[in-house]
This record gives sequence, C-alpha cells and structure tokens, in this order.
Amino acid sequence: MNKTDKPRVLIVGAGLAGLFLGGLLERSDVPYTIFERAASVKPVGSGMIVGPALIPTFQQLGIYDDLLAIGLRMDHCVYYKESMEPYKPTDVNLVHEFTGYYNYVVSRPKLYEILLKLVPAHKIQYGKRVLKIVEGEDKIMVYTSDNGVNEGDIVVGADGAYSAVRQRLYEQLKVKGELPESDHEDLPFSTTCLVGQTESLDPEEFPIVKEQYCQFLAMLGKDKPFTVSKKQATVRLRKIIENQKALTHNATPSVSLLVDSNVYLK
Ligand SMILES: Cc1cc2nc3c(=O)[nH]c(=O)nc-3n(C[C@H](O)[C@H](O)[C@H](O)COP(=O)(O)OP(=O)(O)OC[C@H]3O[C@@H](n4cnc5c(N)ncnc54)[C@H](O)[C@@H]3O)c2cc1C
Repeated sequence: MNKTDKPRVLIVGAGLAGLFLGGLLERSDVPYTIFERAASVKPVGSGMIVGPALIPTFQQLGIYDDLLAIGLRMDHCVYYKESMEPYKPTDVNLVHEFTGYYNYVVSRPKLYEILLKLVPAHKIQYGKRVLKIVEGEDKIMVYTSDNGVNEGDIVVGADGAYSAVRQRLYEQLKVKGELPESDHEDLPFSTTCLVGQTESLDPEEFPIVKEQYCQFLAMLGKDKPFTVSKKQATVRLRKIIENQKALTHNATPSVSLLVDSNVYLK
C-alpha cells in the first residue's frame, strides 16, 4: 500500500456490526466492500438496547435523530423475587448525568434499516460466503464461495459469534505460538436462546405499554430452573438445563426464551 493511499477494507458479514463499520468508512471516504453469505439479511425481530457508549457514533454518522425516532427511552430496571416483591429499582437515567445520553430500546429490524441506508447497495455483495483468507506480503486475499478472489489491505471479521475470520486468525496465531492460553478453547456453548414475538399487546389489558418510558423488568427464580424478564412488552424466560456436554469452563448452562412485542417500540 502506498503511504498516501487509503487502505481497502474487506468486511465479512453484513450484520449490525458490518453495516455500522461500512457506514463509518463511507463517511470517512475509505474504500471497502462487505461480503455477506446470505442472499439477503433478515434481522430477527427482537428489541435491543442502545446505550451511551454507542450513541455519540450515531451523531457522527448523522443518524441520532433516526435513533430517537425509533427508540423508547429506558428509565428503570426492576428485578423481582418470585413473589413479585421488587428488589430496589435501578435508575438507569443516572447514566445521563455522566455521559449526556440515555439508553434506548429499539426494534432490531428498524435499527438494521437505518444502518443499511448508510451503505450504498453496490458495496454489499450478497450470497458470498468467505471461505479462505490468505495474508501476503503487503496484501490480503479473501476467497469467496463463488470462486471470487478479492484483494484488500485490511480484513474485518464482522461475521458473528462463531466468526470464521476469528477462527482462521486463531489458527495462524496458534502456529506462531502467539495465541493466549484463554483463547485456545472453543467458544463455550452455555445458553440456548429461543426468540419469539407476540402479537401487538392491547394497551388496556397491559397498561405498562402506555407509559412514556420503557422499563426492563426481570423476575429472578430462586433455585428454580428459569427466570422471566421483559423489556416493556418483552418477556424473556431463562431456563437452566443440565447435561450440556459441549460446555467448557464452568459456565451455567441455560436456555432462554425471548418473546417480544414491538407495539410501543414505535
Ligand atoms: C437475545 C439477544 C439479545 C440481545 N440484546 C442486545 C442488546 O440489547 N443490546 C446490544 O447491544 N446487543 C444485544 N445483543 C447482542 C447483539 O445482538 C449482537 O452482538 C449483534 O447482533 C452482533 O452483530 P454482528 O453484526 O456482530 O453479528 P451477526 O448479527 O451475527 O451478523 C453476522 C453476519 O455475518 C454473516 N456471515 C457469517 N459468516 C460469514 C462468512 N463466512 N462469510 C460471509 N458472511 C458471513 C452472517 O450471515 C450475518 O449476516 C443481543 C443478542 C441476543 C442473542
């Protein structure tokens, strides 16, 4: 790479992370391409929380107002005992005093839509699974499932929790004896999360959805196999299961069920 040139970035994965980076590179006028194995990406329809650590970047990208338009401000986390007696609520608004920003619960597909608009369509190559990455002297080559060979200067693995990019990198580090001991093991499989979405809830029957701000509510089962929680209209069940042989470390195995309703996530 010539010192005056901008590096060409090859991003693997068009999930939230890949699109976010694409948006930032677009804004900085750095050349990049995103490779996505799926023919199209359909983000699951649950809610997620976007907090103060990330929000300044939304401002830099010019999408802060878009975030506010789809977000519902979260003001409290309340944990209940099984008897529904609450523990002391956590006022998450305090974070505003330190950072100037709040937490927002947003619908994941809507967040995805906002990020997708940041990246020109021709810069995302769908239906291209990255199979192999080869590092040369001063270039890096990405091989895709359509027999494509793509040359760049930087490869970014935005290919999710079981990232193939990370696994290839780890293989190389292992050969060189540079992989930290803690990274030698596979990602522990400790939780199975079942995600679903309810029909829109009737505000008369569930008045909590009429409130101006969103609360994160959780019921912690004591010595019980599951926990229930909800983000306003979200219900999450966490069920402890046993005998998960794939477990490493001593992580607690669990199954969690997330059921969302996006009624008041605008
Ligand atoms: C139930 C649940 C609730 C969550 N709640 C929150 C929350 O409230 N707040 C929060 O910040 N985070 C939350 N998270 C975490 C957050 O959703 C994830 O961290 C985030 O979605 C990860 O995005 P990503 O783009 O890194 O990966 P992914 O969304 O997994 O996207 C990876 C993409 O890479 C593609 N890909 C994979 N392999 C290849 C390959 N070889 N070649 C080409 N493409 C490939 C995939 O098809 C996919 O499109 C939650 C996660 C879960 C499961």
